Amino acid sequence: MKRIMTRSLILWIVTFAFLAGTVFLGVRVVLYSGDWVQQPFNGHMASANGLGKAGKIYDRNALTLAYSENDERYYADDETTREALLHVVGDEGMNISTAIQSRYRTNLSGYNFALGVGLPESLNGTANSDLTLTADADVCRAAYSAMNGHKGACVVYNYRTGEVLCDISAPSYDPADPPTITEDNESEYDGVYLDNVVSSTFTPGSVFKIITAAAAIDNIPDIYDQSFTCYGSLDVEGNPITCEYAHGTQSFSEAFANSCNCAFGQIALQVGEAKMKETAEKLGFNGSDFKMSDIPVATSHYDATGAGENYLAWSGIGQYEDLANPMLMAMICSAVANGGTATSPYILTDDGGLLDKLNISVNKSSDIEMMSPDTASKVKELMRGAAEGYAWRGVDLAGLSFCAKTGTAEVGEDKEATAWFVGFIDDPSHPYAFAAVVVEGGYGIDAASPVVEAAISELVN
Ligand SMILES: [Zn+2]
Repeated sequence: MKRIMTRSLILWIVTFAFLAGTVFLGVRVVLYSGDWVQQPFNGHMASANGLGKAGKIYDRNALTLAYSENDERYYADDETTREALLHVVGDEGMNISTAIQSRYRTNLSGYNFALGVGLPESLNGTANSDLTLTADADVCRAAYSAMNGHKGACVVYNYRTGEVLCDISAPSYDPADPPTITEDNESEYDGVYLDNVVSSTFTPGSVFKIITAAAAIDNIPDIYDQSFTCYGSLDVEGNPITCEYAHGTQSFSEAFANSCNCAFGQIALQVGEAKMKETAEKLGFNGSDFKMSDIPVATSHYDATGAGENYLAWSGIGQYEDLANPMLMAMICSAVANGGTATSPYILTDDGGLLDKLNISVNKSSDIEMMSPDTASKVKELMRGAAEGYAWRGVDLAGLSFCAKTGTAEVGEDKEATAWFVGFIDDPSHPYAFAAVVVEGGYGIDAASPVVEAAISELVN
C-alpha cells in the first residue's frame, strides 16, 4: 500500500511538472516568438539579417527605398538617395537603432503568431507589410548633397500636419555597400550610426536667442521700451561677452535681428536664471518626452542655475552648457508659426489603419503648447525681422516669405563654429518648419542656410 502511495505521488509530481513546463513554454512562445523568429538559427528569416522576406519601404511619392527579392535586401537605385535616407530606412546590420528597418523588422517581415512568416498576403494575418514614409526622397537627397561632406543634420516638417518631409544626417554611408569601420577610418565615420535629427544635440549658439527672446517677452514688461548699446564687448563679472563688431544702440527687435550678444547677454541677466530655465523647459529643454512617430527625440539641455552672472549671460546666447536637438528646434519654430503650439512630428504614413494592423505604435503624440499666442506672434515678428536681413544677404527659400534665425556656435578654439539655420516658411500653402545644423561649418548664414534652401527649393518646385 505504501509503495502504491509513493508511486502515485511521483506520478502526480511528474504530471504537475509536465503541465507547468507546457504552460511556461506556451507563455514564452506567445511572448517571445516575434524575437525567436528573427534569430540567426531560424533559416526562414536569417537571410539579409531577418529582412530577406520583409516588405517594401516607400517614400511619400511611392519611390521604392528598400525591398526584398530572393531573400536579399535591396535599396534605392540611386546611391545619393541611399545615403540620404540611410538614417531613416536603416541597413541590414541594424546599426541605426532609430531607423525603420531596425525598429520594425518584425512588422516589416509580416510575422504572424498563428501563421508564421512568408505566407501569401491573403493568408497572412498582417495583410500588408509595406511601409510608406512621409519623407520625400528628392528633398532628402537635395539637402544631403548640400551638406557638402560636413557632419550635421537637416529636418523639414509640415507644421500644420506634422509630416516629416526631410530627415537627413551626415556622415552617412551606402547601405548597399556598408563600410568596414576600423581604427584607421573611424574619424571619417564618427557618429555615423546616429540620426542627428532625432538622436544628437549640438551647441545652439544664436538660435537659442529665440528662447531668450520668448523669456524676455514673458518676463520683462518694458522689453520693447529698452535700448541696448553694444560696444563690441560687455564686461560681466570681469569676463567679456563679445560681438564681432560694435552694433551701437539698438531696440530689442534690432538686437535680435543683429544677433547682438552684448544685448542678449544683458537680457538673460534681466530675466534671471530661474525664469530662463522655466521658459527653456516650456519649450522642451531638459527632459521632455518628445517623439517623431514613436522614435524618441534626444533631450536638449539648458540650466544656468548657480553658474554665476557671466555664465548666465553666455547661456542666454546659446553657449555655456546649452545643447539643442535639431528636431526640437524645428518644433519650437513650428510653435512660433502655429500661435504657440508645436505640432508633433511623424514619419510613417498610417494608410487606412495600416500601422495598427502591423502592430506598430502610431504614437502621434498630441500637439505641445510651448508659448502663449501673444508671445508666439511677437517672436514671429522678431524672426521675420531677422529673415529680412538674411534675404538681403541672399538667402532665398524658393522666393517664399520666411521667418528664421541663424546660429554660429563656438565649440572650442581649434574648431570651426557649428552653423545653424532654423525657422519656417510663412505661407499657408507651404507650411514648413526647418532646422539645419552643420558641424564645423562656420557661419550659419553661409553653411547652414544653403542646406535649407536646397530642401525647400526641391519641395516647392
Ligand atoms: Zn552686439
